[in-house]
Amino acid sequence: MDPHQGKWFYPTKSLSERTMGEIFPNHPRAESLRVRKRLAEGMRTGMVVPEGLAAHGRGEAFDYLLGEKTTEFAREAVEVASAALLLASHSVISVNGNTATLVPEAVVELSKVTGAKVEVNLFHCSRERKVLIAEHLRKHGCREVLGVDEENAVRIPEIQSERRVVDRRGIFSADVVLVPLEDGDRTEALRALGKLVIAIDLNPLSRTARAASITVVDNVVRALPLMVGECRRMKNLPREDLRRKVESFDNRRNLRESLRLMCGRLMELGEGRRPI
Ligand code: ATP
Ligand code: MG
Repeated sequence: MDPHQGKWFYPTKSLSERTMGEIFPNHPRAESLRVRKRLAEGMRTGMVVPEGLAAHGRGEAFDYLLGEKTTEFAREAVEVASAALLLASHSVISVNGNTATLVPEAVVELSKVTGAKVEVNLFHCSRERKVLIAEHLRKHGCREVLGVDEENAVRIPEIQSERRVVDRRGIFSADVVLVPLEDGDRTEALRALGKLVIAIDLNPLSRTARAASITVVDNVVRALPLMVGECRRMKNLPREDLRRKVESFDNRRNLRESLRLMCGRLMELGEGRRPI
């Protein structure tokens, strides 16, 4: 009898655990498998929802096209995003289930280096999940997690989804919001409210990528730790230098370059200039 019968949707063991306990380090996609395993574990603990796994899969497809590496264009966007975070008077890192599961250490570090507040904000929202994510972040050293306490909840009417409920002390009053793994609707709404929005999205064609002020086309597992390093490196630069970086950045151009890089790789493969 199938031990998972009757609860196939939330199995007690992840599929990767049941079918592939071990990830061989020489597997060509070993890192990607480790990331999947982490998300599957996140789902078992209740932090990740099934839709989060599907969203990750869509991202993975674009990561394939990038060669699963941080490109020079993503590096440039990370540098500019770090400058924007350092210049902000009130920055917030918006955290969902996938981000909390994949990069809790980097979220906490980034908040410490820049002074950004951390807020839980979910598309598939429930109080239990918010509490779980907040606890997980606290376990990783986060002193204050916003977005959980109902007393400070405010609604942004421009946003249709459950993401409209934000914290008065956080996203509501922020001038800069970092939204790793975001939904397009909210990015557009936050921009319309005059906020500078930094997105991390592997898909340069998404509404999030196109609507954000600064888009890092990279995997969040690579981009966020890189941002921590950049913020540390630039922390003591003159504000004028940081401002120049932000003001001279052209997000549309950066997105086009990321797309050209993906196309270039596909052309090389298609024309046999790169082995398949
Ligand atoms: P949008 O709402 O912005 O138009 P979408 O509806 O196509 O985008 P969503 O489901 O809202 O997509 O969000 C999922 C997106 O998040 C994926 O397309 C992918 O690009 C991005 N994503 C998922 N996992 C990662 C990851 N680990 N790193 C970076 N981006 C990711
Ligand atoms: Mg969407």
